[in-house]
Amino acid sequence: MPDKTPAARPVMGIGACLAGKAVRYNGQTKSPNEHVRDLGEAFELRSFCPEMGIGMGVPRAPIHLVGGPTQVRALDVETHSKDYTEQLADYANTVLGLAPELCGYILVKGSPSCGYDRVRRYADNGYGIGSDQQGIFAAALARTDPLLPLEDDGRLNDPGLRESFVTRAYAYHDWKQLCASGLSAHKLIGFYSRYKYLVMAHHVPAYRELGKLLANAGNRAVDELAAEFIAALMGALAQRATLRSHTNVLFHLAGYLKRSVPRDERKRLNSLIEQYRLGQIPLVVPLTMLKHHFANNPNAYIDSQVFMAPYPDELKLRNLI
Ligand code: SF4
Repeated sequence: MPDKTPAARPVMGIGACLAGKAVRYNGQTKSPNEHVRDLGEAFELRSFCPEMGIGMGVPRAPIHLVGGPTQVRALDVETHSKDYTEQLADYANTVLGLAPELCGYILVKGSPSCGYDRVRRYADNGYGIGSDQQGIFAAALARTDPLLPLEDDGRLNDPGLRESFVTRAYAYHDWKQLCASGLSAHKLIGFYSRYKYLVMAHHVPAYRELGKLLANAGNRAVDELAAEFIAALMGALAQRATLRSHTNVLFHLAGYLKRSVPRDERKRLNSLIEQYRLGQIPLVVPLTMLKHHFANNPNAYIDSQVFMAPYPDELKLRNLI
């Protein structure tokens, strides 16, 4: 289970303007929304400004993305004569070198450098011709570390995307801690054992594939196996969990209580799970009841499951899904 003491908070990257630094081209900050602020409680935020990082200074001439849909350049808005594309892309390497412990990154909506998606694209004559780009730095970050969870402040308004982002960031933090302790086939199997129900909640086929992958763990070079494993695990967690897939996991977990909890109490639990399946109550309700039963009837395997607490409860992310 991830360590949730304040001293061990996972480290999350964030666009410096969102973190209250006056680094925008006009010397201003960007107000973070309440969700970005909440994440500041659960993560240690480390801020970066790619445009400042490549020496553009503040105030500075604004830039925008110019060109065809598959080949944009980051050019100064006024003259299109200064091209910052390569430097902004290279800055992704700088960030990952400065902070190899990053487990996620909060990008900045709409920015030609830091936008997650739907960034405006312009023609040579300066006319807007689409909103179909990632920022140059953001795209390079995704290429350089494809496992790193990314979202922007705008997308974090969506409860499902927010929950998925935080789940993946905590999992990636957990993984980096495991790697730092030294990998072995045995440790990989132990790690996956804790993630089984979380993976099942996101993607049942991946749950089966990961089991198969680790069944032959002893016959493969551990580094190669680990790379394949974590790519598949993070890919599975990026799939959106649904009412149906969560319900499936809740019923699986309830099955462990068959012998220890009286029938009428199990009936009550099942009815809460059913209400959740129908969208009448949030996930936190049946889950709280499950936790209550497991507190009275401890089960070491269920206690170890990340699904039960993938991130701090204070984030209240399961109150809305
Ligand atoms: S969006 Fe990115 S490049 Fe622009 S000011 Fe914010 S951190 Fe700097």
